[in-house]
Amino acid sequence: MSSTPRVFNFAAGPAVLPLPVLEEAQRDLVSMPGVGMSILEMSHRGKFFEGVLAQTEKDVRALAGVPDEYKVLFLHGGASLQFSMVPLNFLPRDASADYIVSGAWSQKAVKEAKKVGGVKIAWTGETGNFSTIPAQGDLKLDPAAAYVSFTSNETIHGVEFDEVPETGGVPLVCDASSDMFSRPIDVARHALIYAGAQKNIGPAGVALVIVSGEWLKRRVEDPKLPSMLNYALHADNGSMYNTPPVFPIYIMGLVMKWLISIGGLPAIREINRRKAAKLYAEIDRTGFYRGHAQKSCRSLMNVTFRLPSEELEAAFVKEAKAAGLDGLKGHRSVGGLRASIYNAFPEAGIDALVEFMKEYERKHG
Ligand SMILES: *Cc1c(COP(=O)(O)O)cnc(C)c1O
Repeated sequence: MSSTPRVFNFAAGPAVLPLPVLEEAQRDLVSMPGVGMSILEMSHRGKFFEGVLAQTEKDVRALAGVPDEYKVLFLHGGASLQFSMVPLNFLPRDASADYIVSGAWSQKAVKEAKKVGGVKIAWTGETGNFSTIPAQGDLKLDPAAAYVSFTSNETIHGVEFDEVPETGGVPLVCDASSDMFSRPIDVARHALIYAGAQKNIGPAGVALVIVSGEWLKRRVEDPKLPSMLNYALHADNGSMYNTPPVFPIYIMGLVMKWLISIGGLPAIREINRRKAAKLYAEIDRTGFYRGHAQKSCRSLMNVTFRLPSEELEAAFVKEAKAAGLDGLKGHRSVGGLRASIYNAFPEAGIDALVEFMKEYERKHG
């Protein structure tokens, strides 16, 4: 064991993992019980890893209540490759897709989709520097769109959808990278959900994709589509078309087990609500701190806030780090502070941050 104590890690991603997960991985890293070699050393076609993959898929299905007809895929390339794979597979070159632009990650998804086909912006929060989420009535949806794409939680701006947008039967695609499994999710209302693992469900190196098999049948047939970008091929091969990211999948499997052990998605939602409420209450207490997101669309995962001056913000980040509260600097496009408090972030760390904020305000307010 390292002699350096763990700090409270508020990083946006890669981010904090559950301690029991790290401890189990550490314990078994050199020699997996009953196998005698590391998970890092064994064939992905061997019985052991096949078991890990199958169990992880089973746990994902159980946690989210994934309908049987949906495929669960474990892919390379992070969430960013999904920005391209979605249009390459589902946007006919003479059609268009609707994109709801609620922050920096939706903007990146749009940028990639435009390289493939037509994009219509169903709504954008750009003028308010992405401090809000659209109401259903604000969306300009095209009934002929190939799909509607949205980002359920904007990691950089700290705004989160409370409700899944209603699309009137048009397939819905969700980038859930930073709030996947932070709360119950109605998979059947989506055609495809993707999440880079490194925010809330595992380490960097694997993206979880849940896609309707029915929708897959209606994909764009493009013989030039590279094999690795073809969802159907990955689905047909059970995510084993090539060597899958074995270690990230193994860790994700442990995270799924941990989530189930604490009561699944309804339980983690309650914990996440309690944690975020404590932090927002402190932000709202006096006016010294100012939340970036409007109150009705505040993220439970990424809490973005400002201080009265950039000098005070810089000093806050520095002093907090010295006090064992790491990773609080906000993204440059929003400025200020960002506390990422994903599933695995301990409540004691919220209490420590709130105490630190009170003390900092006493000194500088
Ligand atoms: C981090 C993030 C991404 C990009 O993830 P990569 O795995 O680094 O490609 C995309 N969308 C959202 C919402 C994110 O938070």
